Amino acid sequence: MSMTVMRPAQGCCCHFNNAINNCFNLRYRRTLKTPSLAAEFPFVAVASPPTRLSLSLRRRPLTVASSSAATMSSSPSYDKELAAAKKAVSLASRLCQKVQKALLQSDVQSKSDKSPVTVADYGSQAVVSLVLQRELPADPFSLVAEEDSGDLRDDSAQDIRARITELVNDTLSTDESSSSTLSVEQVLKAIDCGVSEGGATGRHWVLDPIDGTKGFVRGDQYAIALGLLDGGKVVLGALACPNLPLTSIAGANQQPSSGEVGCIFFAKLGSGTYMQPLEGGPAVEVHVTATENPEEASFFESYEAAHSLRGLTGSIAEKLGVKAPPVRIDSQAKYGALSRGDGAIYMRFPHKGYREKIWDHAAGCIVVTEAGGLVTDAAGKDLDFSKGRFLDLDTGIISTNAKLMPLLLKAVKESLKEGESCSSSM
Ligand code: AMP
Ligand code: MG
Repeated sequence: MSMTVMRPAQGCCCHFNNAINNCFNLRYRRTLKTPSLAAEFPFVAVASPPTRLSLSLRRRPLTVASSSAATMSSSPSYDKELAAAKKAVSLASRLCQKVQKALLQSDVQSKSDKSPVTVADYGSQAVVSLVLQRELPADPFSLVAEEDSGDLRDDSAQDIRARITELVNDTLSTDESSSSTLSVEQVLKAIDCGVSEGGATGRHWVLDPIDGTKGFVRGDQYAIALGLLDGGKVVLGALACPNLPLTSIAGANQQPSSGEVGCIFFAKLGSGTYMQPLEGGPAVEVHVTATENPEEASFFESYEAAHSLRGLTGSIAEKLGVKAPPVRIDSQAKYGALSRGDGAIYMRFPHKGYREKIWDHAAGCIVVTEAGGLVTDAAGKDLDFSKGRFLDLDTGIISTNAKLMPLLLKAVKESLKEGESCSSSM
């Protein structure tokens, strides 16, 4: 089945983007190897949790998070919300893993923006929506999420609706608290809960049901990313990365991983970031790298060349003195890898006119900041999640530790200035 949905164009600034990128490519013609991550991160189901995680991490018992929150009697603990979020993304991961394993051509649709949308996107969104509502029945429910059921209600989408409903029911039946079988209409309604506009007041869940759909379809990295906004701030995040190795992917461009995969990162405001095997097992607190030396740093960027100006990121890396080639992976798995110190920097400079959505950064942002990192726009301002479904940004998003941030901001500023003067002289 193939469906085409017309969406408004994001703006047409190709000339500017090409000029700025060509300019950097002329100045900085370094051959950067594009990794074949399909080979490096094959889809492998995790059979049993690891007995020990080979990360050099300072451990802090999970109870510390609750007890420290208990001392701030007036502020909410978000404990039950975090438990619900972890359960929701874990169950949604099961659905996605099942679909990715048996990805059929008929599961792939196409949007006008050419990104493939799979039954797993819709199924994942339905599962998260249903689990959150079931686990938190007393709370008002507002969900800002990527998908809606518009295309699925088309007459030609009967088979796909049925397949999604079957997947959702199968997935929920693996959870002991699940009871009745849901109808197609109930599943579509659960998907449509995601229409919320978010904003600066109240609580809003923010979901990307499959972040990195292109990676998902390729068999590479993707994430199920769920955050909670309270008063316009991200207060918790649960980030499931079903294909991310449990051990470091530093230098993954050169060294294929043969270890176990499937991680969930989770964070609550003021309580640190933890990583756990998706299939269960001990949670360990994670921290961003402490490196102060850019020469030792490596940086993450999108696997998709169209998602970030590589000429610009290459120029910034060169100014910083970064020696290692970029590590290119899909989705917010980059934020997860950054939070445990697999690399030191994440840079994202979309083409001019692209508007970042809050669900592409909410969970990843708190996972990194609670692990000791910073996430800002290209001018060094914190990301503002209070403005609705989009982030109002200056140029791009950068993330690193507090020691490297001033150097990174300086390199960004210089490179952007060079780009401007180069494009105005062309
Ligand atoms: P990543 O793999 O980090 O590039 O992130 C994947 C996300 O990028 C998707 O979920 C999309 O929401 C988003 N995306 C889609 N098109 C673009 C674009 N042209 N520039 C930047 N991000 C995009
Ligand atoms: Mg996304």
